[in-house]
Amino acid sequence: ASSSHPYTITVGKQLRLSPYKYLPDDFPRKKNRLLILADETVASYYLEEVCAAYAEKLPVHTYVLPAGEEIKSFSGYEEVLNACVQAGLDRKSAVIALGGGVIGDLAGFVAATYMRGISLVQMPTTLLAHDSSIGGKTGINHPEGKNMIGAFHQPEAVIYDIGMLDTLPEKEWLCGFGEMIKHGYIADQQLLGQLKRMHKGSVLSISDELLASSIAVKKDIVHEDEQEQGIRAHLNFGHTLAHALEQTAGYGVLTHGEAVVNGIVFALYVGRRLGYVGPDPAEEQRWLQTFGYSFAPLQQMEPAKMLQAMKRDKKNRGGNIRYVVLADAQQPIIVTLDDEQLLTYMD
Ligand code: NAD
Ligand code: ZN
Repeated sequence: ASSSHPYTITVGKQLRLSPYKYLPDDFPRKKNRLLILADETVASYYLEEVCAAYAEKLPVHTYVLPAGEEIKSFSGYEEVLNACVQAGLDRKSAVIALGGGVIGDLAGFVAATYMRGISLVQMPTTLLAHDSSIGGKTGINHPEGKNMIGAFHQPEAVIYDIGMLDTLPEKEWLCGFGEMIKHGYIADQQLLGQLKRMHKGSVLSISDELLASSIAVKKDIVHEDEQEQGIRAHLNFGHTLAHALEQTAGYGVLTHGEAVVNGIVFALYVGRRLGYVGPDPAEEQRWLQTFGYSFAPLQQMEPAKMLQAMKRDKKNRGGNIRYVVLADAQQPIIVTLDDEQLLTYMD
C-alpha cells in the first residue's frame, strides 16, 4: 500500500518566513484559522516570526507548552485539546507543529483526533524531527509504554527549515544523529560510510545532502508501507530495546537518541548471536562512543525488567518479541524471539 495522500517535504533555509509557498496553493482559501503549537524553548526563538508569517493570510492562535517528553502524556494531550476548543478550531482549521518530535507527535495526535481529524502541518526544528515529522505516526506515551496511544495521521506538508537547527544544542544533535545512523544501517551504505567519516564536532554541521539521504530512507520505506504491515517495521531497528530503556528509566531521563544507539548495538549483538554476519557490535560501539554516547544504559539494564517492558511493545504477536536484526549489512529482517533467548542475550 502506498501513501493515503501525497504531501510535499521541503528542506531548506528560512522556509519558516514564507510557509505558504510550501503548502498547497488552496491552503489559505480552504482554511479558516490556525493553531501553532511550540514548546517554550522553540517559541522563544521562532514563534513570533512564524506567527507573523502565517498571519499574512489567516487568523493565527498560538499555544506554548513546557519543553520535554513529559508533555507527550494524557494531561498534555488534554491541555492541547482545550487550547483547540478555546481557539475555536473546527474541521476547516489546521494545527501547525513547530518543534521537535515531542511537539510533532503530540500536535499530530491532537490533529488526528480533534473532531475526528483536522489538518496538520509539520515544521520540524530538531535534527531528530527529520525522521519523526515524516511518516504520519503520531501519539503520546502511557506510563506503561512509549507511544502506546496514537494514530496514523499524515501532515498536509512538512516544512523543514534547517536554519532553525542553528540554535539546537549539541546534545540534541546527537539525538537526531542516532536516527541517521539507523537509516544508514538498515538501508543506505553510502550514508553510513559518510557518517563514519564524521567526528564529534562535525555532527553540528551535517550537510544538506546527508540529511536528504536520511530523509529519503524514511520516506521510501513509509511510502511503501504506510500502515506498518511489512517493511516499515525495519525502522524499528534498535527501537525495541530503546523504548524499554526509556520507559524503565522514566521519560525524559534518557534521550531518545541515546536509547536508540544503545538499542542498535544490542540489535547488532542479537544478530550475531543468531548467527548472522552483520556489523560487529563491539566495533560499532567503539565508533559510537567517540561521539560521546554513553552505553551505561545497556551495561546496567536489568534483563527481567527490560523483557517485561519489551513485551508491551505494539509490534509483538502472540507473546513473542519481534526483533529487527541485520542479516547482513543493510539487510534488516524481523525475527521472533522467545523470553529465554532474550534473557540470555541480555545477560
Ligand atoms: P524534543 O521535541 O523534545 O526536542 C528536544 C529539545 O530541543 C527540546 O528541549 C526543545 O525545546 C529543543 N529544541 C527543539 N528545537 C530547537 C531549536 N531549533 N533550537 C533550540 N532548541 C530546540 O525532542 P526530539 O528529539 O526532537 O523528539 C523526540 C520525540 O520524537 C520522542 O518523543 C520520540 O518518541 C519521537 N519520535 C517520533 C517518531 C515518529 O515517527 N513519530 C520518530 C522518532 C521519534
Ligand atoms: Zn527513533
